[in-house]
Amino acid sequence: MKKILVFSTGGTIEMLPGNGGITIGSVSGLDVSGIKALPEADISIRKYLNLPSPHMTPDIMVDIAKELRALEISREFHGVVVTHGTDTLEETAFMADMYLEGTLPVVFTAAMRSSSELGVDGPRNIRSAVRVACTETQNLGVTVVLNDEIHAAGRVTKTCTSNVSSFDSPGYGPLGFVDDDRVIYHRLPIWRMNLPQGPLILEKRVGLVRTAAGFGHEVIDFLTEAGYRGIVVEAFGRGNVHPDTADAIERAIDSGVLVIITSRCYEGRVLGIYAYRGGGVDLINRGVLSAGDMAGNKIRLFLMACLGRGLKKEQIQYMLSSL
Ligand code: ASP
Repeated sequence: MKKILVFSTGGTIEMLPGNGGITIGSVSGLDVSGIKALPEADISIRKYLNLPSPHMTPDIMVDIAKELRALEISREFHGVVVTHGTDTLEETAFMADMYLEGTLPVVFTAAMRSSSELGVDGPRNIRSAVRVACTETQNLGVTVVLNDEIHAAGRVTKTCTSNVSSFDSPGYGPLGFVDDDRVIYHRLPIWRMNLPQGPLILEKRVGLVRTAAGFGHEVIDFLTEAGYRGIVVEAFGRGNVHPDTADAIERAIDSGVLVIITSRCYEGRVLGIYAYRGGGVDLINRGVLSAGDMAGNKIRLFLMACLGRGLKKEQIQYMLSSL
C-alpha cells in the first residue's frame, strides 16, 4: 500500500455555492469520496491553502514548491497529489517541476466543475491523480492529471474555459491515461526544464508582453522605464515583431533588460529565419534570447527564477539552448 498525501490549495474543486456564484468557503469542500475506498492508497490530507487560483502569486508558487521539496527530501510519502484551481495550475505545477529533483511522484489535479454542478469532475480527477501517484515509477517530473489524462507540467495548458477536457499539451499530447483497470503510460518526457541546485528566489520585475498588430512597443518601453529586469515577448509566428517593437526591445536591452522571445502561436519553436526589420534574425542581432516552443507564462517564471538566482545572460542562454 502506498502512502499518498493530498495537499490542497483551493480552486473550484473545493468551492461551494455562495454570494450569488460559487466561491471559496471557510471550510474545505474537497470531496475525497472517490479515494476513500482505493485499495492501493493510504491517504492523508493536508489543507495548505484555500485560494481561487487567480489569487496565486509567484511567491505562493515558490512556497508550494518548497513544501513539495521538503516532502521529496523527507520520503514520508510515496506520492503527493496537489489540488489547485485550474486557472493558474500550469504555472504552479511548472514552478514545482523546475525546482524538484523528481524523485517523488507529484501529481497536480483540479476540477472544471464545482460539486454543486451536474457532472462534477473533481472526485474522479482526485481518484485518477492518486492512482497515478501510486503507480508512477518512471521519474516523469511533475504531472497534471485531469479527465483521465496524464500531462507533463512543462507542456500542459488550460485550453478551454469550461470543458472538462480543457487540459492539453498542444503539439505533444498526454504522457498516458488512467483507465478503469490500470494506469497506462505511453511516453516518457525526455526533456524537463530544471533549475540548477540552489535557493529558489524570484526576481519580481519580469514582465510578459503579448504582441498584437500595432501593439507592444509602448508596453516594453513602460516596463523598461519602470526598472524591469526581464521581459518575455510573445512575438508573432516564428518570433517576429513590428519594427517599432524591435526598437523598443533594443532600448530595453541597452538598458540592461534581459529579453526572451517566444511565440504567440500554440505550437512550434521560434527561430531566426526572417532577416527583415523586426524578424527573428534582426532580433537576435539586437541581443534577444529565444525560448524555443516554451509558453510565455512559463518561461517568465523560469526567467524570474534565473534572475533571482543571479544567473548571467550567458548561463540563461545556455539553459535555453536545448529548446
Ligand atoms: N477560477 C477557478 C480557479 O482557478 C477555476 C478552477 O479552479 O477550475 O480557482
